[in-house]
Amino acid sequence: MTSTLAQQDLDHLFHPATDLRGLRESGPIIWSRGQGVYIWDQDGRQYLEGMAGLWCTALGYGEKELARVAAEQMETFCYGPLFAGRSNEPSIRLATRLSRWVPIEGARFLFGCSGSDANDAQIKLIRYYYNAIGKPEKRKILSRGNAYHGVTVATAALTGLPAFHRHFDLPMDDVIHLGSPHYYRFAEPGESEAAFVERRARELEEVIEREGADRIAAMIAEPLMGAGGVILPPAGYWERIQPILDRNDILLIDDEVVCGFGRTGQAFGCQTYGMKPATMTMAKALSSAYQPISAVAVPPFMYEAIEEAAGGVGLFAHGLTYSGHPVAAAVADRNLELMEERGLVEHAARMGERLQARLAPLADHPLVGNLRGIGLIAGLELAADKAARQAFEPSAKMGFKVAAACLDAGLVVRAIPGDIIAVCPPLIINEVQVDELVDKLS
Ligand code: PLP
Repeated sequence: MTSTLAQQDLDHLFHPATDLRGLRESGPIIWSRGQGVYIWDQDGRQYLEGMAGLWCTALGYGEKELARVAAEQMETFCYGPLFAGRSNEPSIRLATRLSRWVPIEGARFLFGCSGSDANDAQIKLIRYYYNAIGKPEKRKILSRGNAYHGVTVATAALTGLPAFHRHFDLPMDDVIHLGSPHYYRFAEPGESEAAFVERRARELEEVIEREGADRIAAMIAEPLMGAGGVILPPAGYWERIQPILDRNDILLIDDEVVCGFGRTGQAFGCQTYGMKPATMTMAKALSSAYQPISAVAVPPFMYEAIEEAAGGVGLFAHGLTYSGHPVAAAVADRNLELMEERGLVEHAARMGERLQARLAPLADHPLVGNLRGIGLIAGLELAADKAARQAFEPSAKMGFKVAAACLDAGLVVRAIPGDIIAVCPPLIINEVQVDELVDKLS
């Protein structure tokens, strides 16, 4: 029996990132409220939110302090653009706080509304920068198979997942996709992790050789890949890749949209993996999803060149109506302050150790081909034949079946194509709830 709401949903909503035909048969799941790490559906059933929404509700649900700050800011000053040198207090406070969090000395922060628009801005800023310093031919962007960087025209092109390109006719000319760092899936038979890393590093060097370092502007990468399937870099990967980029003057755009603000056990994934990014993209946990907001960290050398060039035309012509929206900025600023007050990054690191230890026995489960994770993020890649690393036929929809079984057990996880079960709970999760999550998943 379809409820009236569900019918209205089917009649009037266009669901993003959804199997649209499947939805007609299954109908939507309508969530109605949340508290802490739990959410409830329309029928009052409780679930442990094992995916933090879409990797984002770091501080959990129902945080009254963030609701209070939002309401207060709406009453005081609901909107004031940062265009034309105007400013607002929450944006200034947030940028100042971020400058203490972000490991890019002297960075300035350009705000947006989503990870996609922030990564899109990254591409524009980098092109602007190279034009400004008289290297307009340095414009190609490297990305990787399995990468997820967003859904705008440019960022969907950067995304290394075929479904995000197919049927969309994206311009791809200036994007070069390198091989995925997914060792378990793409290692040759018998290839060691070290040999796999070497192969990926050589591939990068060959691409640079072929295209010319003077034509490649940047490489965009997540420290570990979230939406692509919780793909951790193989051991030694960043140690090998980073110097190649540095030697060839290729800027590293660090996409911290999933990893940022404690997910991997340190403030940023780049710190966990020893990356040295030129720029950073942040969103999601930046506001714990209480408001849509993103940020690009721009280093001084880029800012100064852009300032100089924009000075020539009198205008740096990029920005959204809602860049630095005061309500979003006030909420994000208080969100980060609460993280500081509560030692949430350290808490996430402790809970992460527990989560990984409790998950470890699942590596022996006959359905689990590969278990991987760090901090409070994990992926279980299912296999039809564990020894042969053979995946299930896509038509078996095994990942979706496992995610559906979890839902029946009162746990939200996500099935990523390739039958990968992703786990990424709110960072406030406690010991008992970590155990509950793993018990239900098991
Ligand atoms: N970058 C990464 C690593 C992401 O995981 C996402 C979204 O999941 C994005 C960018 C795009 O962010 P948004 O969905 O806010 O546009």
